[in-house]
Amino acid sequence: MSEIFLKGIPAAPGIALGKTFILDKQDFIVAPRAIMEAEIPIEIARFEEALIKTREEIAGIKKKIVAELGDTHAKFFDAHLLFLEDQSVVEEVIKRVKTEKLSVEYVFSEILKKYTNIFSNMEDEYLRERVSDVNDVGRRILKNLTDENKLHELEHLNEELIIVSHDLSPSDTALMYKKNIIAFATDIGGRTSHTAIMAKSLGVPAVLGLKDATLKIHNQDYIIVDGRKGLVIVNPTEATVDRYRNILDLIIKSRDQFQKIKNLPTKTVDGKEVTLMANLELPEEVPSVLKYGANGIGLYRTEYFYMNREDLPSEEEQFAAYKKVAETMSPHVVTIRTLDLGGDKFISALQIPKQMYSHMGWRAIHFCLERPDIFKTQLRAILMASAFGNIRMMYPMITGTGEFRQAQVILNEVKEELRKEKIPFNEDMPVGVMIEVPSAAVTADLLAKEVDFFSIGTNDLIQYTLAVDRVNEQTASLYDPGHPAVLRLIKNTIEAAHAEGIKVGLCGEMASEPILAPILLGLGLDEFSMSPLSILQIKKFIRNIKFQDAQTLANEVLCLSTGQEVENFTKIRLKELDPNFVTTERSDD
Ligand code: PEP
Ligand code: MG
Repeated sequence: MSEIFLKGIPAAPGIALGKTFILDKQDFIVAPRAIMEAEIPIEIARFEEALIKTREEIAGIKKKIVAELGDTHAKFFDAHLLFLEDQSVVEEVIKRVKTEKLSVEYVFSEILKKYTNIFSNMEDEYLRERVSDVNDVGRRILKNLTDENKLHELEHLNEELIIVSHDLSPSDTALMYKKNIIAFATDIGGRTSHTAIMAKSLGVPAVLGLKDATLKIHNQDYIIVDGRKGLVIVNPTEATVDRYRNILDLIIKSRDQFQKIKNLPTKTVDGKEVTLMANLELPEEVPSVLKYGANGIGLYRTEYFYMNREDLPSEEEQFAAYKKVAETMSPHVVTIRTLDLGGDKFISALQIPKQMYSHMGWRAIHFCLERPDIFKTQLRAILMASAFGNIRMMYPMITGTGEFRQAQVILNEVKEELRKEKIPFNEDMPVGVMIEVPSAAVTADLLAKEVDFFSIGTNDLIQYTLAVDRVNEQTASLYDPGHPAVLRLIKNTIEAAHAEGIKVGLCGEMASEPILAPILLGLGLDEFSMSPLSILQIKKFIRNIKFQDAQTLANEVLCLSTGQEVENFTKIRLKELDPNFVTTERSDD
């Protein structure tokens, strides 16, 4: 078998060699299974049962949505129910099971593919968009027919595996924590998607946006995932395997070397000190945060609490988790971000149709202000935990002072309740905002007068500034952190913060990019927050550079016209400043 190279998007660094496990969730890959004549009525009965179950499920969700959000929001499910009522589909399935004598799930999956194709090629845009309804309902029926949830199969696997999938949601990825997963490779997804971020926090390499990896890779194939270069090599030759094993050794050695600087201050050669913090998705990651010597948690993404469960997390449960993280990290600061659902993260319990809270829709603080019940539970838990350790809190996706004030009104109500109930909390808990929407960056001077700190979220700031979807592999080349507009917004935010004497951090993926971190340093950023695994590498860069040189570099790149120019110029300048400069994880070998 010859070696095949597949090119995708480098999403989480590192190298892994191993066998694959294919998670086919998106495509209806159901193997044909022949049945006997006597099994035909059983297959038809199974199909009818699956339809009834699916109908009940959808009706249940619809009822919940009507109760929670009103009639208008429930219309998404009418299309699903309509598909279920369609007698021609039902009849076609039954007819083909009888004539072809194949299992009902196989026949149904084939018919589903046919309908998906028909809808995808419709001229009418409205009908073309119905393809996702057909897919959703079809997948539900298939799940009820096969009762298959491959993710649960992972529970029983003992060997180390590389997950290959069409797509992985952040909640799927969260389920893989502490399983024997050594890498991910997916057909779709972008570099700052939450799946990529989650892969980094699990500490495994990931290559996303491979387009058709699930067609070219089979279960149990031996592959190499090179997360630095965005490469997947299927059936590698012995020579390739040897070469990669050597690189892997080098990476491990250089990581060990970094450990020597773990307890040294994050100070430039000429004495400018900054704070290096970690981003946290799951409380289980705290040991890794400590292992890499983080000076606190710059972003605790609490929305993972709300995923992979059928209920909403209670106040007690959240309080216990926040308190534990704060106590373990004490005296370092823990920055808890309030719920940021939407974009590519969804609350499982609410079962709100994904269209409703897209990247541009009902996201983060916008959702929380509309659902003060859910928001208040979280605010109470955070305030209660603030009596322990060193907690500060920030709101995501704030667009300006108006929204910040609205959120503060709710926070003050919660504080008043706690005072009345004589529940202790830190009256002076700092409250900040994320700067991740261009409107907030442009009005940073106004916000800086009212908030205690800023944290720049470049993952979103870039997507909203450049109008490019952060999770979409098709537009990955347009996602440009060095774009002059992005750099100017960051500069504006830092200057506005400093003018009011408040600190400003950055917790997007940009903080851990070796080419970009020196620019951020030069712009005057106070705090860098990133995946724990990147901390020591960035610390080494900062300890090797002069603040004065970083400032000159920042001023120089601000005069350039494109992101590409910024990247090329910075690479040359950094090499001049330090001839040994290499971006270890992504260097050429
Ligand atoms: C960001 O947008 O940069 C950020 C850190 O938040 P998230 O990635 O969770 O959207
Ligand atoms: Mg964000």
